[in-house]
Amino acid sequence: MLPYGRQSIDESDIAAVSAVLRGDWLTTGPAVDAFEDAIARVAGTRAAVSATSGTAALHVAYAAAGLRPGDEVVTSPLTFVATAATAALLGARVVFADVDPATGNLDVDAARAALTDRTRVVTAVDYAGLPASPVELAEMAHAHGALLVEDAAHSIGSTWDGRPVGSLADLTTFSFFPTKNLTTAEGGAVVTDDPVLELAARRFKNHGLVRERAHQRTPDEGPWHQEVHTFGLNYRLPDVLAALGTSQLARLPRFVERRAQIHDRYDAGLRDLAGVRTPARSERAAPAWHLYPLRVLDGRRREVFEALRADGIGVQVNYIPAYWHPVFEDLGYRRGMCPNAERYYAEEISLPLFPDLTDADVDRVIGAVRRAVTGTAD
Ligand SMILES: *Cc1c(COP(=O)(O)O)cnc(C)c1O
Repeated sequence: MLPYGRQSIDESDIAAVSAVLRGDWLTTGPAVDAFEDAIARVAGTRAAVSATSGTAALHVAYAAAGLRPGDEVVTSPLTFVATAATAALLGARVVFADVDPATGNLDVDAARAALTDRTRVVTAVDYAGLPASPVELAEMAHAHGALLVEDAAHSIGSTWDGRPVGSLADLTTFSFFPTKNLTTAEGGAVVTDDPVLELAARRFKNHGLVRERAHQRTPDEGPWHQEVHTFGLNYRLPDVLAALGTSQLARLPRFVERRAQIHDRYDAGLRDLAGVRTPARSERAAPAWHLYPLRVLDGRRREVFEALRADGIGVQVNYIPAYWHPVFEDLGYRRGMCPNAERYYAEEISLPLFPDLTDADVDRVIGAVRRAVTGTAD
């Protein structure tokens, strides 16, 4: 079965990890510092704070934003549940606003209509790698006294108006899961330009520990002393994995280029096919395409999905609207709330997309899609 996504590991990655295993630090050491510096450079931000997953990064970002019970987070339902779950875990109420029917990204007007005096955060999700109008959303959030968080699990390496993803929101989160644009096996990061948000993020991912004497309540306790002022967790990315990340980052431009070539090849091979729609683009974006979200029209998504799986093509669906999960249903969220997202979900199939896919693999997928949709040998 051709997978829908997979990592690209080479000898330089293996050497980088081996070197850490032979050294003095397995966790928080020089490889973490080097990885955070490299991420901040790619993202065009002052600081990057690494974490153990994209989910941990979202939790850290919301905690740094000061999210508390009673606060509201406005976000897209067309995302992995972690975007909403991590806010809910902090006691916030998640308010789902509908998506743009073409791109699947949070619709700016729908997000604006969902703002209340309790809105503390607006979270954009860069679906498939296409940035979600971050300039407009940041302006809107700031005018309302809220922060913009960008869930960029799909979009490290993308640009918007020529600016790198990471430099556009108050807090941007990345995931380094194996199917994402680069991997540390499990891992994630939060990037920000704001030193106050950075410090809050660093504390939350490390038990809330305050080590700077100037900030301690009883600094004369002794040289061993550290204090917790607010509760935190252990979300520290180990050196072993950070070294893999730095090694992968050196190839990110190649990964992005290959992903774009594959995306173009799918477009060229499927654009003329009746009964499907190829993904929308934006003139303002140079996306690092994480997904190729094909839309299958006329209620035929499941039939085409099953035909492709039977043909050895490991297609996926991204995503079931987040509020369809029973945990949200039990909180009173109802189907029908965001019709554009529900329709997008009902039509979507993610085709295989990863850097090591060959042109022959892509052509095989195109052939299989055409057969599945037309019901002919083509
Ligand atoms: C993958 C993903 C996450 C979670 O990242 P993990 O590293 O798997 O925890 C969050 N949001 C989106 C949109 C994702 O695709």
